[in-house]
Amino acid sequence: MNIHEYQAKNLMRKFGMKLLHGDIAKTPEAAVKVAKGLGGNVWVVKAQIHAGGRGKAGGVKVAKSLDEVKKYAEDILGSTLVTHQTGPEGKKVNIVFIEEGCEIEHEYYAGIVFDRSTNKITFMASKEGGVDIEKVAEETPEKIIKVGVEPSVGFTSFIGRKLAYGIGIKEKDQVKEATKFFEGLYNLYTQCDCTIAEINPLIKTKSGEIMALDAKLNFDDNALYRHPEIERLRDPAEESAKEMEAAGLGFSYIELDGNIGCLVNGAGLAMATTDIITFYDGMPANFLDVGGGATKETVQKAFSIILEDENVKAILVNIFGGIMKCDIIAEGIVGAAKEIGIKVPLVVRLEGTNVAIGRKILEESGLNIVTAKELDDAAKKVVKAAKGEE
Ligand code: GDP
Ligand code: MN
Repeated sequence: MNIHEYQAKNLMRKFGMKLLHGDIAKTPEAAVKVAKGLGGNVWVVKAQIHAGGRGKAGGVKVAKSLDEVKKYAEDILGSTLVTHQTGPEGKKVNIVFIEEGCEIEHEYYAGIVFDRSTNKITFMASKEGGVDIEKVAEETPEKIIKVGVEPSVGFTSFIGRKLAYGIGIKEKDQVKEATKFFEGLYNLYTQCDCTIAEINPLIKTKSGEIMALDAKLNFDDNALYRHPEIERLRDPAEESAKEMEAAGLGFSYIELDGNIGCLVNGAGLAMATTDIITFYDGMPANFLDVGGGATKETVQKAFSIILEDENVKAILVNIFGGIMKCDIIAEGIVGAAKEIGIKVPLVVRLEGTNVAIGRKILEESGLNIVTAKELDDAAKKVVKAAKGEE
């Protein structure tokens, strides 16, 4: 789960990390009010969307008067921001964050991820932070330093100093401040069950302060039950209505860019299905993982979600019934087809528990179904069907 920059910053403040003051606004008038409250004579107006790259896309503006705050808030609110992370359709901005301005001396990069190759929570940091970090990562990866945290020891000030020196912060008080920052970031990452915590840029101001200017936090969905206060930060406007509906039914539904709808059970089979479709030059439009606990009714609802997607030109049902029984899947498919109608080719590969009953239900349904025996065969058939060749 993602949250907005302003929400991330509220959380970071609780972990003792140094930040500028700011508040959100949903109208230009409210933005001016926030700026007045903050005082000073420079403010930054920042679009709040679940995507980075806002700076380059015009979603971060430095205002030097209250009139400019109003103008930028007017421009940004309600606009659709297209950044390199939003995809071509962009994201609509409903909230702006108004922050005090500051004088930047240097922009660094700092982040934490879990590194599966070393099995350690790992800091990444670079002297070359700011809006071009992707370029740094691609062209000069040696400029990004990595420091793993020994799980039995946890964070120590040694790690903080190693990171600070590694990115060129050497002045004693600044090293101390940076160490405090890294410790706060580590505590936040571990205590809130983050999957990614990324601060880009971390800055040094002209007066020598070390602080976070931007914040991106991502949380492990499977640990959210431990953090109701974080779950409450979810912004429905940022999430796909269909993905949320599926989640409500207890399924994972992921939207992709292609034209083949996929109904599968289990994450592994979902990946294998996606891979094999791609191998035969097809592109999944989505995959819906019904897992093991579905009923006829929920399968029917799930299948309706796939059918309602206009990008879907063919559907592949790929079920290996273990806990999930094939007859339940078949009944769900038939139910959804009766309710909405299936206008696209349907390729079905069923195996496992109650497969004979499942096949019979599908055969007797009168639906136009292409059956496949193996995954390979199924993938070839569905890719052909999506191209209108079968
Ligand atoms: P992103 O492009 O979505 O990652 O948004 P950021 O919050 O990282 O902002 C992009 C850039 O805007 C930063 O790298 C800074 O150069 C600049 N910026 C952001 N906040 C301020 C500020 O308070 N003062 C100044 N002068 N520049 C800022
Ligand atoms: Mn940034």
